[in-house]
Order: sequence, then structure tokens, then C-alpha cells
Amino acid sequence: MNEFPDRLLVIDIDGLRQDVFHAAMVDGSAPHLAGLLSGGVHLDPVSTAPSITFCAQTSLFTGAQSDEHGIAGNQFFDRFGAQTRGRARFYAFDIGDTLAVDDAVLVFSGAEGLLGKAANPGILTLYERAARRGLSSAVAHHMLGRGADAWLRPNLADIARFTKGGGLLGLSALEFDRQMVEKAARHLRGGARPDVLTLYFMGVDHRSHQHGPQDQPAALADVDGLLGEFLAEYDRAGLLDGALAAVVSDHGQVGVTPDDRHSLRMSFPFDREMGYLFDALGLDVHDKPGEDPDCDAVAASNGGLAHVYLRHREGGWADAPRFQADVLRAGMAFWDANLTGRHAPDLQGALAMILARNVEAEGWQAGYRALTPEGRMLGVGEFLAGHPEIETVEAESRLERLAGPHAGDLLLVANSGEGFYFANPMPGMHGGLHPGESLCVASLGWVGASGGQAGRLREETGALIEGRRASVADLMPVLAKWMGV
Ligand SMILES: [Zn+2]
Repeated sequence: MNEFPDRLLVIDIDGLRQDVFHAAMVDGSAPHLAGLLSGGVHLDPVSTAPSITFCAQTSLFTGAQSDEHGIAGNQFFDRFGAQTRGRARFYAFDIGDTLAVDDAVLVFSGAEGLLGKAANPGILTLYERAARRGLSSAVAHHMLGRGADAWLRPNLADIARFTKGGGLLGLSALEFDRQMVEKAARHLRGGARPDVLTLYFMGVDHRSHQHGPQDQPAALADVDGLLGEFLAEYDRAGLLDGALAAVVSDHGQVGVTPDDRHSLRMSFPFDREMGYLFDALGLDVHDKPGEDPDCDAVAASNGGLAHVYLRHREGGWADAPRFQADVLRAGMAFWDANLTGRHAPDLQGALAMILARNVEAEGWQAGYRALTPEGRMLGVGEFLAGHPEIETVEAESRLERLAGPHAGDLLLVANSGEGFYFANPMPGMHGGLHPGESLCVASLGWVGASGGQAGRLREETGALIEGRRASVADLMPVLAKWMGV
């Protein structure tokens, strides 16, 4: 009887809500997923803060949190220019055609892709770990392919369609995912027998953005159908039996209000209304595509959260901003706008929390505290205790692991309970701290395992998490245990 599974198949379903996943496990609407996971174990993790793709996916596949891997969102600002010879750089992995250089296309360009280059090179990906142990790997359509022997990428024309305006322009999400599955199947038919194989499905997240989270069960059933076709190929290649299947998602989604009033465009191309707040403070905000980040303030939109970076007015980006004169001054202007609409009418009532951190006193790992409308700083837990209307899960621990060199000096939390968010108008959203967008999936099943093997998988995996809620960063140590990577 084998002590360990023979190989690893990771099925990554972007944006799949934890409750939708569990409902499908019992109602028979995702029979292939349910079959893979039968007798297995559910970690039921919480996503990163922000609960957004590039940050959470990097945590899933490295085991590090964003204060270490450095990917502080789909959008963030690297004020030190760690990968750009010291020149500060704004990253927008999700934006598409509004940028002079299209980061969304660069994600799949070059040997490592933009995410692979931007993520801390000192932190190994699953595939780099596998390679060290002599294991081969293949990755289909996932944005982090660093270290994989075969990185099967979407073609550039499809990426361009996919990124422009957030729609697929004639290509359905199902068709896009079908192409991914076909690439992976072709890879196997060509004779590859990867020890580690990752399949990345974007259809659930995409449809949930377009039609709201209530569309997730139907979208998941479609993904399950495609998965069934793939598993038949995987089985024909003799790879299915003995495999460890890991089914994961990076975040969930919540329903928001798809109109101009509730969609806050904080970073470019933003509604000019938002710029007035920075104008009033005398700050030149980074608001033109391709603009030199030689400015005073940068905003990075991540759905439910937005980073605001402030430059020391007499220094450079690599200098810590002054807490009173730079950070608190801007934070209080956001409170003013939130309460009265002053300088930024769009912001009135739009924010649930304004968090600030004092890197001047505490360094680049300084943690966030809640700024009150009176200008006091409170612990995040204390602030939330006084505001039961703001629903969150594991807010303090997640924010603590966001607080690294690439995190904002201010962190704006959208009032998602009233339907607000930092993005273009859409009915489905994520990025914030609400349970619906934060709780996600990491479940393991050992295909063809004996009762004893399945029991060990459940017990020994459970022991790694014991007594606390799992996070997306816990997947990696679990895979390390079972795959020896
Ligand atoms: Zn995602």
C-alpha cells in the first residue's frame, strides 16, 4: 500500500464561493468534482486581504502571504521598484487597454510572465519546489507558471479580448475554459506525464462578475462538465488512479450594485470627481495611463479594498511618508468626503472603514489601525466591535499579513453592505473582507485510495490546521506533506 499519492492534479476554479461549492458537493450538480473528493478533506480556507485573484493565487501556489510574496492585489504600487532597477512601478494585472504597457498581456509574456517576475524570487512556487525534487509539472492558463516545465498559456488574442472592458467579446467563458482543457489534454496526448498538473478555470468568476454570484451554481456545473471530459483523457493516459486531486478557489464573490454611483473609480481611469480630493490636498495623483509615477499619491483599486500610497512631500517614494503631515491628512480628507461628500461627492457614504499605518515610526511592516472620524487610531478589532453592521471574517489576521512594503499607507474599505466597490460597474464583486467574498475552497481527495489511505489523508491534513481557520497559504504546506515537495 502506497504511503503517498503518485502525482498531483490541481483544479483551480477562480472565484468559487465556499457555500456554492459545498452545496454542489451534496446536490449532485458537480459529479466529477464530488467523485474526485469523495472520502477526502476540506480545509475551507479564508482568502487573503484583498480577496482578489493575483494576491490570493500567489498565496495558494507559494504558501506565502502578501507581506512576503509582495503581490498586494490585482493592482498595487511598488514604491521601491524591486524588479525595475529601483524605479517605482504601478502594477495593474487586470486593467487591459487603459495602460500604455498592457500588464494583463505581460502576465503571459516572457519566460516567467509579469506575475512570476513581480513575485518575490526568494519564495518558491509549487513548480519550483517540485523541480527541486525531480518532479515534472505543467500549468494550463494559470497566471503563475514560474518554474513549470510546460506553461500552457492562453493565446494573446484571447487575453486581449478577455481584458478589454472585462468582457470576452464574443468568446464565452465556457469556450475560454474549454480551450484550456483542450490544451492540457493535447499535452497529455503528446506523451507528457506531469507529476504536477494545474488546470485554471476562469468561467465561474467571470460569469459571477457579469451576472452576480447567483449565477455560480450554473457556471460551476459547466466547469464540472469540462472537467469530466478532461478526466476521461487523464484516465486514458493512466494518470488518474493514485492521483491526489486538490480543488481550490482564490476568493468568493458578493452581490453589489452595478451602477455608476456605487462603482468607485479610484485609480485611473477614474471619474474625475475622485481627483478633486487629491487636488484639494495639493497632491498630484497618478491618474494618466503610462504616467511617470513621479507624483505625490497613487491609488490602487482592488474591488472591496483600495490602497492609497502617499509620498513624503520632501522625499522620494522609497522614503517613509510622514504620518501626520502626509498620511493622516489624506485619511481625514477621505473621512470628510465619506461623511459630507466634500471634494469627492462620489465618496459620500461609500466607505466602511479607513485604515492607516505608521511606517514612519514602525517601518514597512507597520500594521493597520482604524482611523476614526475624530482622527483617533483604534485597533481594527476594536473598531469592528463598535460597528456590527460591517461584516468581516478574520479581518485582523488577514490585514496583518497584507501589511508589507507593497501595501498602501491608507487602506480604504468599501461599504459593500450598501453595494459600493472600487471597480467598473458590475453586479458581482470581491476584494473585501466580507465572508461571501472571503471564504473559498481548498479540498483534497486521493483517487482510488484505500480506506486506510483516505483516513490518513483526512487525519494528517487536519492535524496541520488544527484549532484555527485555514488560509489560502495553508495549501502549500499540505501539498508539501503529501507530495514531498
Ligand atoms: Zn480570482
